Amino acid sequence: MSEIVILGAGIAGISAAYHARLSGKKAVVYEAQGFWGGLLDNFVIDGFRFDKAIHLSFTNNKYVRSIFDQTPFLSHYPNPSNFEQGKWLKHPVQNNLYPLDVLDKVEAVMSFLNRPTLYNPANYMEWLVHQYGDYIANRFPVIYTQKYWTVPPEMLSTKWIGNRMYRPTLEEVLQGTMTSQTPNTYYAKEMRYPVKGGYRTFMEPMVSGTDIRINKKAARIQPKLKYVEFTDGTKAHYEQLFSSIPLPELIPMIDGAPKEIVELADSLWATSVALISIGLSKPKTVDSLWFYIYDEEMLASRVHSPSLKSSDNAPKNCSSLQFEIFYSKYKPLPFSKSYLLEHAVNCLKQMKLATDDEILFADLKVERFANVVFDHGMISRRDQVRKYLNSIGITPIGRFGEWDYLWSDQSLLSGKRAIEEWVHAKG
Ligand SMILES: Cc1cc2nc3c(=O)[nH]c(=O)nc-3n(C[C@H](O)[C@H](O)[C@H](O)COP(=O)(O)OP(=O)(O)OC[C@H]3O[C@@H](n4cnc5c(N)ncnc54)[C@H](O)[C@@H]3O)c2cc1C
Repeated sequence: MSEIVILGAGIAGISAAYHARLSGKKAVVYEAQGFWGGLLDNFVIDGFRFDKAIHLSFTNNKYVRSIFDQTPFLSHYPNPSNFEQGKWLKHPVQNNLYPLDVLDKVEAVMSFLNRPTLYNPANYMEWLVHQYGDYIANRFPVIYTQKYWTVPPEMLSTKWIGNRMYRPTLEEVLQGTMTSQTPNTYYAKEMRYPVKGGYRTFMEPMVSGTDIRINKKAARIQPKLKYVEFTDGTKAHYEQLFSSIPLPELIPMIDGAPKEIVELADSLWATSVALISIGLSKPKTVDSLWFYIYDEEMLASRVHSPSLKSSDNAPKNCSSLQFEIFYSKYKPLPFSKSYLLEHAVNCLKQMKLATDDEILFADLKVERFANVVFDHGMISRRDQVRKYLNSIGITPIGRFGEWDYLWSDQSLLSGKRAIEEWVHAKG
């Protein structure tokens, strides 16, 4: 028996195992896939490396930096941009409206001036109108919400926003309508990325010396007898179980889970993401590391350039892009694989970023769990599920265990915190 069993070898599970080892405890990580990394893993096509979605590090946490910085990294200045109706706007759009037509700018400023003051917005739609006014809200973030979160903003609470959405002053909005020479107000000032090997390389200092068993998919958990059973029929006994498996998948595996907890877990939902990865035969395709697309008829909400993150991600004189298309039960992925690939290629041509003969390949992969969705009441439902897990000796960790909008640094800290609390409580 291992003292500690950890399910999932993403950054939360790897971090838990690493910090268990630092605390002198024996831990084994069981991972369903054939490699460690989880969402931070990558894949290679014809010499082009693609992370699973954008993945850059902008952590300010000194402890996480002390781990990530052991890997040689490149430092990028974040310069995202936005595409809407054939125009490119600086980021964020609300204080960079310069490329819009004059009458549109007037309407945007007037509606910003007349925005309602709401002390306690009931939902994300009210929050948007309160922050930006009707015009900006409806033209940009409302449409983006439906693409990224797959539901209208009325369906979302405001608990996830944090510093993600910039709140400009009137001066900033006005300045942004008159000039393109606006200051960069993006919430991070530096984006870091490993020189070689893709984003998951940041995890390597925690991986060496960690006991990771791959191709081990947990299928059933018996909390009374304290063991996990895998799809291959083998079992792992534990003293304490840590799990980064998404809550809606974890709870049905647990023998004796009460019906109401099963229902609560089932009510939690996340978006999925389709990643369309494109290799190009020219050295540079875009200036921005990533950009957002507001046009509804273009399915992707965000596109990033792996080759700009690091030249190690593409063969010499080549470049690459990756489109992120989010979908869910509320907005299913439309059409066939071939349609989606053709659609992405057509978008590239429409945005005048590439011609047919520059496109070497387009590939589609999907990730079932991308962003947990903060619909109304989610936090209370999730907390009841987490409380139940803790009561039966299972500690949920990471983005889909904690069921929170965690960046990679926060997922690392989630695994660390869980182990340290358990070790401390054990005495
Ligand atoms: C689109 C997108 C963009 C992002 N961009 C950034 C960014 O730029 N910067 C940043 O810091 N963060 C970013 N993140 C967040 C980051 O990806 C997560 O915080 C982090 O990867 C979560 O790690 P985790 O270990 O909690 O979960 P995961 O990486 O999902 O790991 C869970 C692991 O559990 C395994 N598993 C599942 N079921 C089983 C089972 N039954 N048995 C055994 N194993 C199982 C899975 O295979 C997986 O390996 C982004 C996330 C998304 C979706």
